[in-house]
Amino acid sequence: MARKKAAGGQAKRKTSKANGAAKGGKYVYLFGSRTDGNGSMKPLLGGKGANLAEMCRIGLPVPPGFTITTEVCTYYYEHKRTYPPALRPQMEAGLAAIERQTRKKFGDLNNPLLVSVRSGARDSMPGMMDTILNLGLNDQTVEALGRKTSNPRFAWDCYRRFIQMYGDVVLGVQKRAGEDHEPFETVIDGLKHERYHQAIEDTKLTVDDLKELVTRFKALVKERVGREFPTSPWDQLMGAVGAVFGSWMNDRAIVYRRKYNIPTEWGTAVNVQAMVYGNTGEKSGSGVAFTRNPANGVKEFYGEFLINAQGEDVVAGVRTPEPVSELKNHLPKAYQELERIRQTLEKHFRDVQDFEFTIEDGVVYMLQTRNGKRTAMAALKFSVDMFKEKLIDWKTAVMRNPADQFEQLLAPVFDTAEVAKAQAIATGLPAGPGAASGQIYLNADRAVAASEKGQPVLLVRLETSPEDLRGMIAAEGILTARGGVSSHAALVARQMGKVCVCGASALEVDYQARTVSVEGQTFKEGDWMSIDGTSGKVFAGRVKTAPSEIVAGLIHDDASAKKTEKFKNFQQLMKWCDQATRMGVRTNADTPEQASNAIAFGATGIGLTRTEHMFFEGDRIDAMREMILAETLEERKAALAKLLPYQREDFAGIFRALDGYPATIRFLDPPLHEFLPQTEEQQRDLAKKLGVPVSVIQSRVAQLHEFNPMLGFRGCRLGIGYPEISAMQARAVFEAAAIVQKEGIKVRPEIMIPLVGFKKELDLQLEVVHQAAREVQQEQRVKLTYSVGTMIEIPRGALMADEIAQSAEFFSFGTNDLTQTALGMSRDDSGSFLPQYAELEIVKKNPFATIDIAGVGQLVDIAVKRGRTTRKDLKLGICGEHGGDPDSIRFFEQVGLDYVSCSPFRVPVARLAAAQAALVK
Ligand code: ADP
Ligand code: MG
Ligand code: MG
Repeated sequence: MARKKAAGGQAKRKTSKANGAAKGGKYVYLFGSRTDGNGSMKPLLGGKGANLAEMCRIGLPVPPGFTITTEVCTYYYEHKRTYPPALRPQMEAGLAAIERQTRKKFGDLNNPLLVSVRSGARDSMPGMMDTILNLGLNDQTVEALGRKTSNPRFAWDCYRRFIQMYGDVVLGVQKRAGEDHEPFETVIDGLKHERYHQAIEDTKLTVDDLKELVTRFKALVKERVGREFPTSPWDQLMGAVGAVFGSWMNDRAIVYRRKYNIPTEWGTAVNVQAMVYGNTGEKSGSGVAFTRNPANGVKEFYGEFLINAQGEDVVAGVRTPEPVSELKNHLPKAYQELERIRQTLEKHFRDVQDFEFTIEDGVVYMLQTRNGKRTAMAALKFSVDMFKEKLIDWKTAVMRNPADQFEQLLAPVFDTAEVAKAQAIATGLPAGPGAASGQIYLNADRAVAASEKGQPVLLVRLETSPEDLRGMIAAEGILTARGGVSSHAALVARQMGKVCVCGASALEVDYQARTVSVEGQTFKEGDWMSIDGTSGKVFAGRVKTAPSEIVAGLIHDDASAKKTEKFKNFQQLMKWCDQATRMGVRTNADTPEQASNAIAFGATGIGLTRTEHMFFEGDRIDAMREMILAETLEERKAALAKLLPYQREDFAGIFRALDGYPATIRFLDPPLHEFLPQTEEQQRDLAKKLGVPVSVIQSRVAQLHEFNPMLGFRGCRLGIGYPEISAMQARAVFEAAAIVQKEGIKVRPEIMIPLVGFKKELDLQLEVVHQAAREVQQEQRVKLTYSVGTMIEIPRGALMADEIAQSAEFFSFGTNDLTQTALGMSRDDSGSFLPQYAELEIVKKNPFATIDIAGVGQLVDIAVKRGRTTRKDLKLGICGEHGGDPDSIRFFEQVGLDYVSCSPFRVPVARLAAAQAALVK
């Protein structure tokens, strides 16, 4: 109903009232009976605003309002914190639209309209201004609201909330250094004790109490801020809008944006929306919910609510919310409506939604929706279930699984037999799946200290807050006595993939005594407890863990594990990944066992076998040392002859495990001194064993000492200096190949020469390898298929790739050394400066974990292009640490590598990441 013209006195043109397109563009987008925006406009309207618009478009009950665009935020900072002139009239028109739809008027003395002012960046962002509710109240409108609703208690409750929120958020009346409590809460506590001599619930406060609180709040504001609380609704509104834009540049927001790489130019939007009231009485309430369980993925309505409360009460933890299923009993109609909304949301957004609602006198209103954060386990189940429900296709299902969390699925669970024996002492909400056992600590600092000493730690708290974060990271698991699905602990668990049980209310946590009591038992700090984040159970003592169903099924061939839903879903997802993937996934494995584990996880070969690891076992190290200490070629050959059978045996085992898949075998790489004993005692020992004076050993150790071993006598330089070492290794490979091939197993050795920078280096080694191949084939009367290639791991190798490819049949990027040499940074020494580099944002991510695309990536790209110019079918892989890192894998897909190689337990992550990289390309 058009009861009022926009105060700005714009023309009467109906449709363009809020458009203001004439001068300076459109800054205000309406939602409600007319909706200007939609869900795809997150850059302009922010995540909250865009989805409010989208919900209006699909007919969900959303209180009307408008969104001030992110462009205004940008303008604000480009123009010394002022607004575009067209903004105010557009806001006035927007407010008029709300007034028409609600039949209330802003600042009216009969039927006042109250609004909320809500910030809204593209993604919700901690550090941004908190929402302000009930804006528009003053000493007059509060009376009007009380009369109009015949509910003065409600009106005064709104008023005291408003002064409290506005005072805190806009006027900055907050806890000062040294104060334990928020100043407004202190005032409330004071009044409660004065009048009731105890801490009663807020809902028990009378009209008179609330009036008194308002008086005291206003006095507090005056004292702290030095001026009166603003009474004009428009002043209040502009103040709140300014505070939202202002908060875009506060320290916390800036730090967050840096961390997550969010450009400052994005800006935040502001939403102004008609209030709906969850605090009018027993038929009202407020809640948050997920369309499915975000912890374990179960398709159930999941969430919590509070009767007679406004939204902030639910998350604030002052009162304990009830699970949303309980709403059935309180307000059955509203529950039904929410169920309907739940279905509608999923059908429309085709993803699990995390939404906020308020019920006013039995009527449901939607206040927010967004894609819900989820654990890896929930993500997997969501994706497979939604595919089956035909909500999404298989490609979308693959994309819905975050690759960087995926390893959580392989984490251990509790051994079923052990759980049966264990003593369950409490149950809470299963907020982060998995199993965790640890010694309990009740405070973050002590938890961190214990974990630094190597203790597995369980952090136990009443509830957690951001101050506990360090402790939460250090802990194996988190257990809280209070709090529900929207509690801090649950949120963090979902994001970090921590095992978590929250709201185990049977636990009595005593911070002072540092004890946890339950059912007559008392646990002290340092005592063991175990939590099952999948079932929500809490156990006394230490419960043994077992491998995850996926590991049990794939690696231990456990039939019952294979029947679990988790296992089946995993296999389904991996099948889809194979359909999407272009790159292969190989593994870095030095033993037959590692190789077969990786193959069970879906690896299709070995991308890197480090032969030197084979020299450390048992007596081998003695033969190796003998070889290194040898003074003549004859002596060295004799020692190498001792090593040959060991190597042959190792390679044969690996070939058998691979059963036809290729194996890239890298020849000896580390500097020789690494094999020699460094302490005098060990040197004496060795001297005795070899029957030489200890001085011989000591002088050889001294001789081999290098100032900079990483850049010293290592890699192909060893094989060039001592060709007989490479000859022995080549012979061992080919003899093993001959043996295994005769057993009827296909063998595909790929011999890899490390640290090549010059073509000639490779050529010299090639000669040795081919010679050994010829000999063995003749001796054994077999024909072997093999190839010889090189690692590209120093910049010269990358730059000279065209020339090197004349001799190399394949390249494998050794991105660890390539990063070290390109950046001139030793990985092992980087701990002393890299953390500061990250803080100063000289590097965005640890370059040894995620490839430095701009720098090192260029070398990879150059080598790929130049290598393939020479040899079109040059096979290209990567075997550095980066081969298991999702971000790096995306890059390797883009430059067109044939495969990535990573550690066995990382293989599923790499398969997922490789599939996703192929799908987004
Ligand atoms: P956040 O981004 O921190 O979730 P919101 O802007 O979503 O902040 O506001 C928090 C809560 O405030 C909402 O979940 C809702 O319960 C309440 N709220 C916000 N706007 C309104 C409104 N117009 N009417 C009633 N409650 C509201
Ligand atoms: Mg919200
Ligand atoms: Mg290397």
